[in-house]
Amino acid sequence: MESVLVAANWKMYKTTADVQHFFDRWSRDPAPPGREVAFFPPFPLLPLLRSLLPQGQALGAQNAHEADEGAFTGEVSCALLKDLGCDYVLIGHSERRNLFGETDARIAAKMRAAFRHGVRPILCVGEHLDERQGGRTLDVVLGQLAEDLGAAPPPSGFDVAYEPVWAIGTGKVARPQDAAEVHEAILAWLHEHHAGADARILYGGSVKPDSAAALLATPGVRGLLVGGASLDPASFAAILRA
Ligand code: PEP
Repeated sequence: MESVLVAANWKMYKTTADVQHFFDRWSRDPAPPGREVAFFPPFPLLPLLRSLLPQGQALGAQNAHEADEGAFTGEVSCALLKDLGCDYVLIGHSERRNLFGETDARIAAKMRAAFRHGVRPILCVGEHLDERQGGRTLDVVLGQLAEDLGAAPPPSGFDVAYEPVWAIGTGKVARPQDAAEVHEAILAWLHEHHAGADARILYGGSVKPDSAAALLATPGVRGLLVGGASLDPASFAAILRA
C-alpha cells in the first residue's frame, strides 16, 4: 500500500454515547491525500462505527481468536470481524502479550487466521525498557517478527507496528533517531525474508500532535498507531494532518 496509515486504538474506552459525540465533532472531510485513517474501537462498538465512519475511513478490531469458530467463550473470530466490515485487526499488541499472556506461537496462529479471512493484520512488536537498556532491542523485535510471521511468504498484505513497550501510555515517546534505527532494521529484515511483501511499518507509543510530524518524517515510518491521543477528535485530527 502506498498510503500512510494513521490508526486510532481506543482500547477499552468509550460508550455508544461517546462514539456519537466523537463523530459529531469528527470532520466529514476526507483524510489528507496519501493518508489513510482507521479506527479500532472495542468489539461491541464495531457496528456503530461502521455506520458512522465517513466514506473511505477504515475499521479495525483490537484482537481476534485464531480459530474460525468454536466453544471459546468471550472470544471473537476473524470470520466475524470480516462479516462486521473490519478492514484491519491488531495482532500481538503489547497489552495482549503482557496482560493476557499471548505467546508468539499464539500470535502466529492469529496472523494466519487474519490472512485466511482477508482482514489485514497489523502485527505489533516492541521491546521492554530493560531490553532496550540491555542493548537487546533489535534482537527482541526481529525475533518477534521471525516467530510471528513465520518462514512461509505472507499470502497478502500486512503492516507492522513498532511499539516500544516503555513508550505505550507513558508519555515517553521514542526519539526519531531511535525509531529510525528499529524501522530500518525491520525493513531490512522484511527485505531479506519476505522481499516484495506489501507491508508498511507504523510507529506507536505516546504519539501526540506535537510529536507526530517528526515521527512521520522519520525514515522507514509509514504510519502511526495512536492510543490516548486518538480519543479526542481534535487531537486525533491534528495528528492525522501533521
Ligand atoms: C497503543 O495502545 O498502541 C498506544 C500506542 O498507546 P499510546 O499512544 O497511548 O501510548
